[in-house]
Formats: sequence, C-alpha cells, structure tokens
Amino acid sequence: MWRGAARTLCRVWQAPGRPCSRGDEASAPRGAPSCWSCGDQRTPADGDRLFCPTCRALQPPDPKPDFFRLMDCGQSFTVDIPNLKRRYQQLQRLVHPDNFSQKSQTERDFSEQHSAQVNEAYKTLLTPLSRGLYLLKLQGMEISEGTDSHMDLDFLGEIMEISEKLNEAQSEAETNKIEAFIRAEEKELTEDLGKAFKQGDLQKAKDFLKKLRYIVNLDEKIKLKKTSS
Ligand code: ZN
Repeated sequence: MWRGAARTLCRVWQAPGRPCSRGDEASAPRGAPSCWSCGDQRTPADGDRLFCPTCRALQPPDPKPDFFRLMDCGQSFTVDIPNLKRRYQQLQRLVHPDNFSQKSQTERDFSEQHSAQVNEAYKTLLTPLSRGLYLLKLQGMEISEGTDSHMDLDFLGEIMEISEKLNEAQSEAETNKIEAFIRAEEKELTEDLGKAFKQGDLQKAKDFLKKLRYIVNLDEKIKLKKTSS
C-alpha cells in the first residue's frame, strides 16, 4: 500500500527533469515551470537551479525535495560528511536571507523557505538515525512511534538495564563508562545498518534502526544528565 502511495505522490511532486523511477518524463517539457519573475520557460536542466539563468531571480524551492539530491549526495546510507558540510555551507551562502534584503518580497520569502529546507536536509542526512529513517521512508517504509511487540526482548532488557545503571550512576566516571559503552553500541549498529542498506535488506535495516533509536535516546539521556549535574 505504501509503495503505491509513494508512486502517486512521486507523480504529483515531481519537478521537471527529475525522472522518478520510470524516466519517461525526461523529454517532457509538459508542465515545465517558467521563471516567476521574467516568465522564461525553464528547461529540464534548469529544474535544479536555484536562480533563473535569464534574470537571475531566485526560484521557489521544490515543495517535496529529495534531500540526497539537494545536498549533492548519492541516495545511499553512506554519506561523505565533510562533503555534506561543504554543500550545506555553499547552499546556505547562496540562499541566505541577508543576500535578499534589497530584493522583492517574493525572493525574500523564497530565500527563507530555501534556508529552512537546506537546514532540514542537512540535519536529516547528518546523523545515522535520521538519515536511515529518511532513506527507509523514501522506499515507502516507516517505523511507528512507541513500543513494538516484535522487538528483540534481550535487546530491550539490555536497554532497561543500562537505563537503570544510568539513573543510579553517582559519579562522572560511572556516567562516562556508560557513555563509552553506548557510543560503541551506536557505532556497531551504524555499521550493521550500512551493510543492510547496501544489501538492499530493508527489513533488516528497519530492525537496526529501531534499536538505534533506543541507543540514541539513551545517549540523549546521558547528555542531559551531564549538563544537569
Ligand atoms: Zn527569470
């Protein structure tokens, strides 16, 4: 059901020159937007450009962007973080609202929207958990909130035990020890997740992501404990 829904949405959201999966739209100028400012028809190759090649006006952001594409990354769990950071800074410079303070309200609004979108894309792709969840969502799979009856009970037991230890930890040394353990678990799960995505085993990826979510929650609890003590 999800896959069907994703296909329908894909048709609706699709920007020109962005073959979704079929690629049959590649030569279709049908529906190609024109520049809102000068009215020039944008070719499919212009679809990705932030600025109109004719009048240089900032164009509206894609209402449903592919964050991987926006951030110049391949659609993969493995992301080159330094490259992601560079791309983020580059885009932020280009669309920064300060650059548009002397421009029309339309461009000022677009720059705000682009800026928010670029922030969200960067945040989503930066951490393994959000990146993995997003990648899974692109394939039409989502993880529901709350507890899961199919969850590995040994794992849940382990999480509860660590959580209790953390609550009881009196010294910074104890907390640091738990933190080191959590970090190691996080690293291992991230590696497993990368392998599952590489193998195209989405069910496995989903299971690892559920575990990673628990681990990240614990990590946040540790951070909170450290800042409040
Ligand atoms: Zn134009």
